[in-house]
Amino acid sequence: MNSNAQSYDAIILGGGAGGLFCAITAAKRGKKVLVLEKSNKLGKKILMSGGGRCNFTNQFINPHNFLSQNSHFCKSALSQYSAQDFISMVEAHNIEYEERKHGQLFCINSAKDIVEMLVTECEKYNVTIITNATTSIVEYSDKKYLLETIIETKKNTTNLYTQSNKLIIATGALSVPTLGGSGYGYDIAKQFQLEVTNLQAGLVPFIFTDQIKNICENLSGVSHNVEVTCNETTFSEDILFTHRGLSGPVILQISNYWYLGDSISINLMPSVSLSNHIKDIKKTSPKLLLKSILSNMMPKALVAELENLFWMELANKPIGEWSNIQIEELGNTLNNWILKPSSTEGYRTAEVTMGGVNTDYISSKSMEVKNQQGLYFIGEVLDVTGHLGGFNFQWAWASAYAAGNDL
Ligand SMILES: Cc1cc2nc3c(=O)[nH]c(=O)nc-3n(C[C@H](O)[C@H](O)[C@H](O)COP(=O)(O)OP(=O)(O)OC[C@H]3O[C@@H](n4cnc5c(N)ncnc54)[C@H](O)[C@@H]3O)c2cc1C
Repeated sequence: MNSNAQSYDAIILGGGAGGLFCAITAAKRGKKVLVLEKSNKLGKKILMSGGGRCNFTNQFINPHNFLSQNSHFCKSALSQYSAQDFISMVEAHNIEYEERKHGQLFCINSAKDIVEMLVTECEKYNVTIITNATTSIVEYSDKKYLLETIIETKKNTTNLYTQSNKLIIATGALSVPTLGGSGYGYDIAKQFQLEVTNLQAGLVPFIFTDQIKNICENLSGVSHNVEVTCNETTFSEDILFTHRGLSGPVILQISNYWYLGDSISINLMPSVSLSNHIKDIKKTSPKLLLKSILSNMMPKALVAELENLFWMELANKPIGEWSNIQIEELGNTLNNWILKPSSTEGYRTAEVTMGGVNTDYISSKSMEVKNQQGLYFIGEVLDVTGHLGGFNFQWAWASAYAAGNDL
C-alpha cells in the first residue's frame, strides 16, 4: 500500500442514507471525514424512494417493526436517535412534509429535498465526498485501515490511497443494483471473519407460474383492501394485481415473512364473514346472483375472475337456490384464499435485502465490530430489516448516528 496515503479520522464507504448521515454526525463532532461513493450520484435510493417523495421516517417507530435474528439488536440505536430527531432536522431545513396513513412521513415536493439536506449538512461540516470511487482493496495493519480506491471519471482513471483508524461500511445491500445495490459490505465482513446470515429479497412483489398468473394478468392494475397472512403474521392493506403477480403494500409487507415454498392466505373481505353475510342476503334477496352481492364489496373485475375460478357452474343460479353448505364453502374460501407464489421478483425490484452481517458480531450501542477495533457496519448491510413505511430509513439514520457518535 502507498505510504503517502491521505489520513482521515474516519472513512465511510457508501454515500447513501446511512453513509451521509454518519458523516454528518461525526463531522459535527469535529472529525475529519471522507465518504467514498462508487456511483456518480449520492443517495440514489433516497431519490427513488417513496415514489420520488421519500418516506423518510414513521411517527410510530417500534422495535417490533424490524426483523433480525436478534430482535433486540435494533433497540439501542433506535432509542439514541428517534423519528422526532430526524423530523426536527427536516423542519430546520424548511422541507415540507406530510403524514400519510399509518404514520408514514413523506416529502411534499421531492425526495431530492432529503438528499440536498444531507449534502448541505456535509458541506457545512467539511465532509470530503468523492463519487465514482470504487474501493477495491482494504487492508488492516498497525490498527489502521488502508484503502486503495479507483476513481473513474469520463476524463481519466486515478488511484487514491487513504488511511484511517475508523472504517465505516455503509454500502447497503443487494436490492436494486441499478441504484447502487452491492454485496461489497458482505465481502468486507467475510474478510474480517464475520458471518453473514441468509440473504433474501424483501419488500418485494410475488410472481406466479400457475393459473393465478393469468388471473393476475387479467386484473393488472386492480387494487383492493385485503388481509394477508403468512407464517402467523398478518397485514391489512391494499393488494395490487400486476401482469406478473401480486404487489401493493400488503404484499410487500408479507414478503418479509415468506420463504420459498410457503403459501399465503388472502382474506378478501377482512371485516366480514362472507359465509354469514351471503346467508343473510339469501333470506332477504334470494333472487340475487352471487356476482351482484360481491360486486358491492369488491372490484367487479375481481369478482368476475373469482367466479371463473370458484363458482362457474353456479354462476347463473340465484343465491336462494344455493345450499347453505355451498355458501359456507365459498364464503370460507374467499375469506381464506390460499395461494402459493412461485417466487418473488427478486433483488431487481426488492426495496430491501433481508438478512445481512450477523449482529452477534456488532455492538448494538455503537455498530462497531466487537472483535475488530475501528470497523463499523451501519444501515441495510446489517441483519436488520424494517417493515414498509419509513422504517428502513429510520434504521439507516439511527444506526449511522450511533456509529457517528462513536468515531
Ligand atoms: C425503490 C426503493 C424505494 C425505497 N423506498 C423507501 C422508503 O420510502 N422508505 C424507507 O424507509 N426505505 C425505502 N427503501 C429502502 C431504503 O432505501 C434503504 O433501506 C436505505 O437506503 C438503506 O440505506 P444504506 O445507507 O444502508 O444503503 P444505501 O442507501 O443503499 O446506500 C449504499 C450506498 O453505497 C454505495 N456503494 C455500494 N457499494 C460500494 C462500494 N464498494 N464502494 C463505495 N460505495 C458503494 C451505493 O452506491 C449506495 O450509494 C427503498 C428502497 C428502494 C430500492
